[in-house]
Amino acid sequence: MVVLGVESTAHTASVGVVDGEAKVLGLASDMYRPPSGGIHPREAANHHVDVLPGLVATALAAAGVRPRDLDAVAFAQGPGLGPCLRAGATVARMLSLAWRRPLVPVNHCVAHVEIARALSGLDDPLLLYASGGNTQVIAYGRGRYRVLGETLDIGIGNFLDKLWIGLGGTFPGGPALEAEARQGTELLPLPYSVHGMDVAFSGMLTATLALRDKGAARPDLAYSVESTAYSMLTEITERALAHRRKTSVALGGGVACNERLRAMVRTMAEGRGAEMFAPPRALCVDNGAMIAWAGELALSSGRTVSVERSAVQPRQRTDLVPTPWRETTGRGFAR
Ligand code: AMP
Ligand code: MG
Repeated sequence: MVVLGVESTAHTASVGVVDGEAKVLGLASDMYRPPSGGIHPREAANHHVDVLPGLVATALAAAGVRPRDLDAVAFAQGPGLGPCLRAGATVARMLSLAWRRPLVPVNHCVAHVEIARALSGLDDPLLLYASGGNTQVIAYGRGRYRVLGETLDIGIGNFLDKLWIGLGGTFPGGPALEAEARQGTELLPLPYSVHGMDVAFSGMLTATLALRDKGAARPDLAYSVESTAYSMLTEITERALAHRRKTSVALGGGVACNERLRAMVRTMAEGRGAEMFAPPRALCVDNGAMIAWAGELALSSGRTVSVERSAVQPRQRTDLVPTPWRETTGRGFAR
């Protein structure tokens, strides 16, 4: 089957086309970049409305696929920013009606896990999902993807973005902070905030800006923030691996593009004799291909939705979404 997927949960509008083996046939993305400050949901949604029609055309052309070759149209139903989700859902509904193809709702977090499974060939990895708005450790168990641990306040990416803007930079902060951190040498004391399987970042934000006010150098601040925040994520990932007796871990989300985080999780996994997989950048960040692939899996187990019942769910919980393909078909990864 060939499925087109629409992603629009936050600042990235993206359209992907995948086949039944999770091969990405076409992918076109465009990220909203606020002129200053953080992301404004309505402005991001306006951006998505502007670019999505062009992205659909580009992804189809790249795939060499005509609308009549498609088996379904999938969209990210949640979690995410309401106005952004609605922009993508509206486009997906319209395509579904115009092309007379089933509409498939997809949970964004489940899509991150499924694309990692497909690309790695790992059957049952734990996912460290580290993105702008989300920071979660997710593992499959008893019919659902369960959130084992998560941030108690802001997502790691939002934390890095806010911090970098506070230090005089511009959005997105994560990649710039990564470059800055490479010049850092001194590990400054910052709050290490792990609570069982959960983490919190707002105290570190305040503490870092306070150290800056006392004259700490920006490279050292960046280095210390990365060391502390990524250690916290690595610790909760290890705890979840141990408790769930999983033998592999995959990464997902924009922050999972970070080389330092990848290295720390890899070292931890190797120390436990576990496998570790990080998707290539284009499929680690938000993208339409993972929505299309998760849509393909949902479609294979009959999970479609009528336009009337396809409302977006900005606060959709990963552990409330059925994943029948995991039990019934054994599908879900290629290779
Ligand atoms: P997502 O929400 O998954 O699209 O990811 C976007 C977030 O990833 C933003 O907060 C970025 O600052 C962050 N990000 C992207 N690249 C990196 C990187 N190399 N290191 C750390 N954070 C990053
Ligand atoms: Mg994401």
